[in-house]
Amino acid sequence: MVENETCPDDMKVKADAAGMTRQVVARWRRDPTCLVQMLREIQEACGWISPAAIDCLQAELNVPRSRIEGVAGFYSFLYLQPRGKYRILFSDNVTDHMLGSQALLERLCNNLWLEPGKVSEDGLVSVGRTSCTGMCDQGPAMLVNNLAITRLTPARIDEMAELIRHQTPLSKWPAQWFHVEDNIRKSNLLLNLNMPAGGALRAALASGLDAGAGDALIDTLKRSGLRGRGGAGFTTGLKWEACRNAPLKPGQQRIIVCNADEGEPGTFKDRVLLTTRADLVFEGMTLAACAVGARRGFLYLRGEYRYLLEHLNAVLERRRKEHLLGNAILGIAGNDFDIEIHLGAGAYICGEESALIESLEGKRGHPRNRPPFPVTNGYLDQPTIVNNVETFASATLVAFMGADEYVRTGTSKSAGSKILSVSGDCARPGIYEYPFGVSVRQVLADCGADDTQAVQISGPSGVCVGPDEFDRIIGFEDIPTAGAFTVFNRSRDMFNVAWNYVRFFQRESCGFCTPCRVGTALLKNLMDKLHDGRGSHDDFVEIEKITRLLQTMSHCGLGHTACNPVLNTVAKFRPAYEKRLQQQEFVPAFDLDQALAAARQMTGRDDAGAHFARETPRGENA
Ligand code: SF4
Repeated sequence: MVENETCPDDMKVKADAAGMTRQVVARWRRDPTCLVQMLREIQEACGWISPAAIDCLQAELNVPRSRIEGVAGFYSFLYLQPRGKYRILFSDNVTDHMLGSQALLERLCNNLWLEPGKVSEDGLVSVGRTSCTGMCDQGPAMLVNNLAITRLTPARIDEMAELIRHQTPLSKWPAQWFHVEDNIRKSNLLLNLNMPAGGALRAALASGLDAGAGDALIDTLKRSGLRGRGGAGFTTGLKWEACRNAPLKPGQQRIIVCNADEGEPGTFKDRVLLTTRADLVFEGMTLAACAVGARRGFLYLRGEYRYLLEHLNAVLERRRKEHLLGNAILGIAGNDFDIEIHLGAGAYICGEESALIESLEGKRGHPRNRPPFPVTNGYLDQPTIVNNVETFASATLVAFMGADEYVRTGTSKSAGSKILSVSGDCARPGIYEYPFGVSVRQVLADCGADDTQAVQISGPSGVCVGPDEFDRIIGFEDIPTAGAFTVFNRSRDMFNVAWNYVRFFQRESCGFCTPCRVGTALLKNLMDKLHDGRGSHDDFVEIEKITRLLQTMSHCGLGHTACNPVLNTVAKFRPAYEKRLQQQEFVPAFDLDQALAAARQMTGRDDAGAHFARETPRGENA
């Protein structure tokens, strides 16, 4: 079920919510580790997580209510208050803004007589913003009840407002609105691979792969030099070997997890791989399972790609029928492995592998302390391999073609190919696969980018390169990347680009540790202040202080890299900041006197003593 066409608000509510919740709980085997999935399905069915549904969950799962509410409150796509029959979220990525998303949001709100972020008085609709939806090659984009609509135009917005006013079910909205293009523009090793399903498994078996006896395959992976494609770049063969060698406690098993939670703004290549090459991904997971002796696997799919769920489940079902998944894979007794798909619920931090595992266990997605690492202490404290979508697909490729052939592509330090998600100011946004070693300049020429001022590579936490760096190459020895390649021409204000990314980090900080929770908010306030023309040179000193705080005190990579967009653009595009420095004197970003206005109003006290004095004359008490 995708939409709540009959979301009740009458006396039947409690009985309906309880009945539906019991069905959901049964479907997830009454297993509290599946709490996020249960909440997500309740949300889909009812449009929110009602107190009646929480009562029922608490009774059925025997877990404290505080835990259920704590988990539901963590994920931005789960609502503990009604949010309307139509829940609309505009993608807030910088490329959506470049394509006019702000004006479209305002147009829809005006059409519906609605304030952004609020629910309409009749409870019909809410309109808000979300971080990047993974549709940067076909924006502006939005999610309606978690389903993506791309290529928004003013005419489409006006038509949408009419459909909402008439309470037209989503199933009767124009089907082409929900169509997502693949936009594959350039292919190389991986996207050119013409392999029948099971081809790599058969090749690996012929080399001696059997359940838990994957020496040959792990050796092949190590010789291929394959490194993780999700950004960290850890050697895949070593990771699989460490998992295989990790000791098991009684009752434990090894686990395979595919991280399909690509949430870095500007990245969308996993979306295309899962749409067009899902077999390669699932085959890579199965190869990993055979190599380390795992029987259970998860694909953690980002909530924004909810529309892919039925397609991916169909691929899994077909593979079971073809004996490529399930019991006795390829007819070998004991060679058992199966995959279950879990959906994220709007938390960017769950792309971090330990936070993802927490989410898989039915918890808030807080990153864990490391070490220990997931290869020894992962899902439910069991040895776990977590690899990215492209990494698993590439492992299939290596197993099929062999290491010797694979290393012929790429550079000596970065073997194979890399898929880039190209978006922004270019004529042909989409998916481009290159051998490692391609220059930034070459990618710009291929995608039809003119007059380019800067390219943000690997999203906000990555690097921003200007024209004097366009001969740098994509590869672990120079610019490593998870895949985002966002182009900005000379008409763009690079301050606004950094300002958008800073808002992204502030919104997506999981709040677990104070330096990041406070530091990202301080940085956002500071950028707001600069944007409003209240900045002075002293603010650069403040930026340095906040940077030190975030880089040295944060718990995970989000906090460590949250300052990158500002540091990069201050260093390379300083005039974009200088023109905003209209003050000689430092102006605090936080106005304490203004913040006390509500308290003064409530107490009815507005005399001079109730105001914060900015300068206290010498000798007087404040
Ligand atoms: Fe959460 Fe930020 Fe701390 Fe990471 S650094 S744990 S995202 S608050």
